[in-house]
Amino acid sequence: MADCIFCKIAAKEIPSNFVYEDDLVAAFKDTNPQAPVHVLIIPKKHVKSLLELDGSDKELTAHIFCEVIPKIAAELGVAESGFRLVANTGKDGQQTVEHLHFHLIGGRSLTWPPG
Ligand code: AMP
Ligand code: ZN
Repeated sequence: MADCIFCKIAAKEIPSNFVYEDDLVAAFKDTNPQAPVHVLIIPKKHVKSLLELDGSDKELTAHIFCEVIPKIAAELGVAESGFRLVANTGKDGQQTVEHLHFHLIGGRSLTWPPG
């Protein structure tokens, strides 16, 4: 999508600090990290939010959840200590970038509940 910053990152049109990439998915460091580990996991294709996923995305979402997230968590050293996975969605969810992304946050003891 033309004006989407995460589409541009996925296409390598703007630089980012990638931690993972395959044909369907990219993951890169958040520029405003909230913890020692803070990466964003995105589908390379433009999907506005969780609510825009449909039945045709089952393979993609299974890939993200069953393969990509565990792999990244292990590689970044938080699989054993634990981490948080967040998908801010829409206005009240404080989604600021309208390209589906999962925050993977860890590397310290996180507080709960969120504000
Ligand atoms: P959200 O509020 O869930 O939409 O989160 C968007 C996230 O994207 C924020 O944590 C930002 O710090 C992060 N972000 C924005 N622009 C970039 C960028 N160019 N590279 C990496 N992370 C970014
Ligand atoms: Zn996009």
